[in-house]
Amino acid sequence: MTEIPYKIYLEENEMPTSWYNLRADMINKPAPLLNPATGKPMTAAELGGVFCDELVAQELDDTTAYIAIPEEIRSFYKMYRPSPLVRAYCLEEKLQTPAKIYYKFEGNNTSGSHKLNSAIAQAYYAKKQGLKGVTTETGAGQWGTALSMACAYLGLDCRVYMVKISYEQKPFRREVMRTYGASVTPSPSMNTEVGKKILAEHPGTTGSLGCAISEAVEDAVTHEGYRYVLGSVLNQVLLHQSVIGLEAKAAMDKYGIKPDIIIGCAGGGSNLGGLISPFMGEKLRGEADYRFIAVEPASCPSFTRGVFAYDFCDTGMICPLAKMYTIGSSYIPAPNHAGGLRFHGMSPVLSQLYHDKYMEAVAVKQTDVFEAAEYFARCEGILPAPESSHAILAAINEAKKCKETGEEKTILFGLTGTGYFDMVAYEKFHDGDMTNYIPTDEELQASIARLPKVD
Ligand SMILES: *Cc1c(COP(=O)(O)O)cnc(C)c1O
Repeated sequence: MTEIPYKIYLEENEMPTSWYNLRADMINKPAPLLNPATGKPMTAAELGGVFCDELVAQELDDTTAYIAIPEEIRSFYKMYRPSPLVRAYCLEEKLQTPAKIYYKFEGNNTSGSHKLNSAIAQAYYAKKQGLKGVTTETGAGQWGTALSMACAYLGLDCRVYMVKISYEQKPFRREVMRTYGASVTPSPSMNTEVGKKILAEHPGTTGSLGCAISEAVEDAVTHEGYRYVLGSVLNQVLLHQSVIGLEAKAAMDKYGIKPDIIIGCAGGGSNLGGLISPFMGEKLRGEADYRFIAVEPASCPSFTRGVFAYDFCDTGMICPLAKMYTIGSSYIPAPNHAGGLRFHGMSPVLSQLYHDKYMEAVAVKQTDVFEAAEYFARCEGILPAPESSHAILAAINEAKKCKETGEEKTILFGLTGTGYFDMVAYEKFHDGDMTNYIPTDEELQASIARLPKVD
């Protein structure tokens, strides 16, 4: 048998030319976004006020399986893709496992994560529509960084609302965004009505992702020539991220490798949705079977302890309602939570698949996540993002099970990014200052009880 190389690359001409729209093969389609004012599905015209037209079409398209990647986006992808599929020989050796472990590494670009795959697509369609710019929110800053890179490349204005605490505590990402020409505003701000309202009600608040989303949306809808863009959760984002899974599958097919278990960390679900898409498509069509595992933080457990219901995507309650696994838009993870993946909800596509039992989910504790991160860094060399390390931990746990049973399973996981900007979190871990906060049932119930009433 051919020896599998450490890194499997595709040639440029083997890169995907279309994104794959998993919804086309889903029997139960994800539920539509609802207008919070009327309770009716959002129409293309209503969505068009917030998102640019081509992205609205992609958001609503549940039937077209393959959507061509425009030539300009493919050229941009070629600057940092294909991303390597790596055989984790060193990790296998260290674990003494018969399992074969592969990871698809998305950290090889300046933004440091997979988010650039959708940022360039969203910026491209905005530019094509003749818009002046886009607005968005960012938490720790990965999405804002990716978007600012894409906008700089295309000559679009980029306005980022950054959660205030991150703006103050994470100056490095903020400055990367400004290097790429984005304007970065700490949220909540006095730029928007919703920001002013939140500041009046909670003076001194350090902000939240949900609040920054409300501000970015308001900024877009009140300025001519601007639209809002979002880095995760939405159907269109999963569509763009399918490039991860398509490349991974093409690389594995080259060597006749078939994964048994596919693992990804889950915040809003975009990297996981992208990684699993072509494999899940085969499962849905009855052509192959795989186990899929979503890994989430125990401090923000949407899949494992949430409910499948319509909820707001933002705290300001101005965005459409999405039917998803959620622990409630008023839930705010504990301040000591350092591992990212802090969104209260989950992609409607993945939520439906999980609900229909095509996928499993596990919640993990953050000290275990950082332990796995360090273990991985010391053998595979890459310093992983805390988010990605959720997937590393689950992959290690599956490989350990193989050691017990002697099964030679093939495991594929998504290594979504690097952790150079997360060294404060690593520092806490090294100093023994990191704790695990797991919400009580009462806390989750309190926020779930505040879900909007939809019949
Ligand atoms: C944003 C981010 C995630 C989580 O987002 P998803 O939409 O769930 O993929 C995971 N890893 C990294 C490195 C990220 O930047």
